[in-house]
Amino acid sequence: MNFFVNIHTHTAGKNTNICINNLNFDSKLTISQSENHFFSFGLHPWDVENANLEHFFLSLEQQIQKKSIVAVGEIGLDKAVVCDFSLQSSVFLEQLKLAQKFNFPVIIHCVKAYLEILEILKKQKVTIPIIFHQFMGNYEIYRQLIKFNSYFSFGKNLFLEKAKFFQYFDKIELSRVFFETDDSEISIESVYEQASKLLNLDIEILKAQAYQNFNIVFRIK
Ligand SMILES: [Zn+2]
Repeated sequence: MNFFVNIHTHTAGKNTNICINNLNFDSKLTISQSENHFFSFGLHPWDVENANLEHFFLSLEQQIQKKSIVAVGEIGLDKAVVCDFSLQSSVFLEQLKLAQKFNFPVIIHCVKAYLEILEILKKQKVTIPIIFHQFMGNYEIYRQLIKFNSYFSFGKNLFLEKAKFFQYFDKIELSRVFFETDDSEISIESVYEQASKLLNLDIEILKAQAYQNFNIVFRIK
């Protein structure tokens, strides 16, 4: 297999790779949809205070119905930013409900709020695929989240000195794994190389697995 699946990026990327480009509400990113380029659309928790919510939810529903996007994201909760947490929660919940209603996968941004998201998934009985981008949770969080239709994406966090998930990285089910570049300068190839080193697995196995996971979650073709 000669391409890499990049599940979450803010830049255009190479045409040879499959990628999901994140469009923010006021995104300036202009890439046309192609065979390998897909889009997610959502209101990031950092932006909820400044957005025209009514306008946003109208355009989200339109984009979902026109099928111009393949996922709702990135959406989520972030306790490390100064932004009203109850507003973040209500905007997140509303986007999650829309995704669930139209059976769309979501891409989650979560910082120090895994327990809150877990509660929401339980309460809402969420069944759509949930992709945690830059996953940083501990093993117990992972074990709780995997009871849902959760996936875990890794990127620049694989290059950190130490993160909680390193302690159990080799126990994460490969059928639930994705890789990404997010907004960083690193290449998707180097992310897969790093994962291959850490897991002691051939890079081709990781590429094939991520592609299989992509097809299961997105059913695009
Ligand atoms: Zn991102």
